[in-house]
Amino acid sequence: MSAEVETALRGPQAFTLARQAIEAMEANKVWPTALNFELWVHYLGAQDGDLAHEIKHMIEAGEPFTDSIGEVLAAKHLPKVKLNGEILEAGDALTKELASVTRAIEVAQKSSEAYGQQLADASESLDTEDTSAIRTMVDTLADATRRVQAENQTLESQLADTTAEVGRLRANLESLRREAMTDGLTNLANRKAFDEALAAACAQADAKGHPLTLAVLDIDHFKKFNDTWGHQTGDQVIRYVASVIARNGPTPRTAARYGGEEFALIFPGEPTGAAMQVLESIRVEFSSRVLKRRSTDENLGAVTLSAGVAQRKPKEDPVSLIERADGALYASKNNGRNRTTSADEVAAAA
Ligand code: GH3
Ligand code: MG
Ligand code: MG
Repeated sequence: MSAEVETALRGPQAFTLARQAIEAMEANKVWPTALNFELWVHYLGAQDGDLAHEIKHMIEAGEPFTDSIGEVLAAKHLPKVKLNGEILEAGDALTKELASVTRAIEVAQKSSEAYGQQLADASESLDTEDTSAIRTMVDTLADATRRVQAENQTLESQLADTTAEVGRLRANLESLRREAMTDGLTNLANRKAFDEALAAACAQADAKGHPLTLAVLDIDHFKKFNDTWGHQTGDQVIRYVASVIARNGPTPRTAARYGGEEFALIFPGEPTGAAMQVLESIRVEFSSRVLKRRSTDENLGAVTLSAGVAQRKPKEDPVSLIERADGALYASKNNGRNRTTSADEVAAAA
């Protein structure tokens, strides 16, 4: 979605989109800061997206578009921008560190070469009988040795600094990588991490000849829930679903927020039956809770989940597996929601 907007900003409609964003911001009393502008361009450029949904909801509710809300929306919907900047900075710092180590090593190498040359010269002068020449030679060698020692010490401490700095940068990159693979609202794997995990799980299932099952899960009538209780409360419900999923679907299974109010679970090495059991325990645990609004303690009524489960056929590609799991989810919705259906049941009914 955001890639499409990026493309639109390089196309013939770019200035129209930019002007519309400014006008819409003025109409809605939103300051034209760089971040707000970026958010509103993405909102207007992809009007059926999750960001647009949230902004429209805020406008309808008459909520003010404050800087902190802008930051939250950007962190949630424009993560790519922030991460790219941070990764570039980390990459630059790493390059600089490596350049400084390379320079230190070059200096040490040159001075070792000079030291070697002095040793060679000294062994030549050892051939003479002249004791004063030998004394001079020993002094020169002692000087040269001290110099090399001092340089080695500098190099050692520089290497220690650099090792520490490289370790810090590696940890930074690792946490950025994790951030880039994590859904900000729920802390589950995000869509990108899910796509990678599913591809890897398919490859592994092929290599080992093991089963692999995929489950998709969707909150029932969630649009109505949002309309009744507001988007923020809706977000809390999404977080709660994620926590129930995380409790019931531990590793090596991958649990991901696949879309707005949709989740996916990958079950490597497990057949339909095992996955159905997990999905049922998630569904039952979730629907048996009475949800309350944190701020007011109001009873939010029953919220339910529907799920679809598909076991991978030999060599089946991820897209087809997802389609069959979605088909099973669709059957759950069609048959009254608040249930789990397998792709086998769908195939048997057809
Ligand atoms: P169904 O039972 O058929 O799934 O009905 P539904 O209303 O849940 O389905 P639909 O796909 O039509 O709507 C999904 C809604 O989920 C739209 C939007 O209101 C809500 N939604 C999507 N992403 C978010 C989010 O990040 N936060 C909140 N609060 N709501 C979201
Ligand atoms: Mg949905
Ligand atoms: Mg839904």
